[in-house]
Amino acid sequence: MKVTEHIQKAQGNTLFSFEILPPLKGENVQCIYNTIDNLIEFNPAFIDVTYHREEYVYLEKENGLLEKKVVRKRPGTVGICAAIQSKYKVDAIPHILCGGFDKEDTENFLIDLDFLGISNVLALRGDAIKSEIYFKPERNGHHYAHDLVAQIEAMNAGTYIDEYMETNNPTNFDIGVAAYPEKHMEAASLQQDILYLKQKVDAGADYIVTQMFFDNDKYFQFVDKCRTAGINVPIIPGLKPIATKSQLSMIPHRFKVDLPDDLVVDIIKCKDNAAVKQVGVEWCIEQCKSLKAQGVPALHFYSMGKSDNIKTIAQAVF
Ligand code: FAD
Repeated sequence: MKVTEHIQKAQGNTLFSFEILPPLKGENVQCIYNTIDNLIEFNPAFIDVTYHREEYVYLEKENGLLEKKVVRKRPGTVGICAAIQSKYKVDAIPHILCGGFDKEDTENFLIDLDFLGISNVLALRGDAIKSEIYFKPERNGHHYAHDLVAQIEAMNAGTYIDEYMETNNPTNFDIGVAAYPEKHMEAASLQQDILYLKQKVDAGADYIVTQMFFDNDKYFQFVDKCRTAGINVPIIPGLKPIATKSQLSMIPHRFKVDLPDDLVVDIIKCKDNAAVKQVGVEWCIEQCKSLKAQGVPALHFYSMGKSDNIKTIAQAVF
């Protein structure tokens, strides 16, 4: 079932959902199952599976030339989604990126998903790879997520790259896109970022999932601004409980979000990470209770491979 159908069917009740990362190359699917087994009792409406480009470095050879070496791979987004849908009968949502894909690769990726009965995708640009300062699309790839949304929407209307393709059956994807209550790191202003978000919705996006935030006012103000800008699709809040002291600097650095002073002070006072985890869980429970009371469509958790704290939060909230 599509995400927007889940939301409609819930009739104003807040859904539970979460995101998982494919494990690093060499691990197996069991570590994904362990995370899901821990959370399945809360009836997730859908489970997102992130997509990661290969990470590589350039090593200097004796002759002075540079050699490209892959250092990290997280394989299997499509396979993991198929395995989740088959084992748990829960809708799995693969993330699909502009980065690393040309339009043909994108079409092939989507044909595979359609074939496997996967009817949701989260369409993203992706970040710049480590060796580049700014995001660079592939030759004949997409520069922005709204172009990717447009390609998916075209396939939903039966338009494929090759107009002579014999079987051009329309696909039927529900398309999600990302948004940033505290602004995307490259956007000149929040207002401009919202205008570009509207471009994604106008191109065919059916719903929005936000970047994590730790102050609900930022989410509610953002939703108000989106509505004023004419964005009327569901806006699902993304949540992440803080679990370690090092995240105090890692989260603002990597995701460009602020942490409220009260939360920072409480974490700094903690003697160890067990205490930090407790503070993070309590903070997130309060956030979730208030978001749920305001009737948000879903509470969507970034598991980052850890599910125990999300289980404690879900027990308190659902
Ligand atoms: P876009 O919507 O294309 O926006 C990127 C930037 O370009 C923004 O600053 C925007 O303001 C600007 N912009 C947009 N349109 C235009 C235009 N027409 N002209 C000029 N500027 C424009 N990354 C991964 O690698 N894998 C994942 O699985 C993944 N999952 C994510 C899930 C969620 C819910 C979120 C919030 C992020 C996720 N990311 C993931 C990170 C994401 O790829 C990055 O944040 C990326 O930098 C931006 O992606 P986007 O789709 O929001 O880009």
